[in-house]
Amino acid sequence: MTRLPIIHHPDYQAPLHDGHTFPMSKYGYLREALLKRGLAAPEDWLTPAPATDAMIARAHDPAYVARVFNGTLTAEEEKRIGYPNTERVTRRSRLASAGTLIAARFALETGLACNTAGGSHHARFEHGAGFCVFNDVAVAIRALQREGGLGPVLIIDCDVHQGDGTAAIFRNDPGVFTLSLHASGNYPFRKETSDLDIALPDGSGDTDYLTALDAALNRAAHEGPFSLAFYNAGVDVHADDRLGRLTLTDDGIRARDRAVIGWAKARNLPLTGILGGGYDKDRHRLAERHAILFEEAQAALCR
Ligand SMILES: [Zn+2]
Repeated sequence: MTRLPIIHHPDYQAPLHDGHTFPMSKYGYLREALLKRGLAAPEDWLTPAPATDAMIARAHDPAYVARVFNGTLTAEEEKRIGYPNTERVTRRSRLASAGTLIAARFALETGLACNTAGGSHHARFEHGAGFCVFNDVAVAIRALQREGGLGPVLIIDCDVHQGDGTAAIFRNDPGVFTLSLHASGNYPFRKETSDLDIALPDGSGDTDYLTALDAALNRAAHEGPFSLAFYNAGVDVHADDRLGRLTLTDDGIRARDRAVIGWAKARNLPLTGILGGGYDKDRHRLAERHAILFEEAQAALCR
């Protein structure tokens, strides 16, 4: 059996104060959920080394990167991000970025790999936002572009929130096609323009969502061929999610993940799965929901 390469680091989970909105403990619960499913044994985790300042500064304004690392973000910048600018949060952001890069490298080799973090799609070139310090997908793409030989890249962003930071970063990059399928009434309230935006009305459920996804993928197919894809598999599209406005079920999320993974596989398009958002108060259920991506990716490798 081909094992799905899974990138994970215990420090994806950084301590936050009690009652913080961001469900940081989900990373630990996800690790348990993946072990329980036999998707990974502890010795199988691929563990990233923190991304260096130089790697991150290829995707972000070096002055912003320096302010993050020397702890001099303004109060306004910190508020926009939503995390305290602590050493552990910074380390987590470096690790998640490096994890997405490693996952992309494995995807290029084996066809499919997943990071158990990442999807920081609100982070822009010059600032962070919405629980996103650094845009991990942008860090990964800039690193691969710099090495040379990377063909056109497709970003399929199915988190319930628009990938506004990603759209802005790659607005003038003809080598990257950005697709965002999101809830129209949700954060960010001022949307960016992706190469393809599909905005769904509040309350959309499985059927409408999957129909829209199918149409989006068909349109993306006409923009290819691509050499690499990133898939933000945020589960905040779920009906029980605190920050979503859609009403997908667990089965709907599974059908979505299967559709995206199958679409890429049918095109021999290497796919990098990244975790994305998810804000259910029940952390166990949230972790189980995130685990669907890994189950579907492993099943696709065995097909
Ligand atoms: Zn989200």
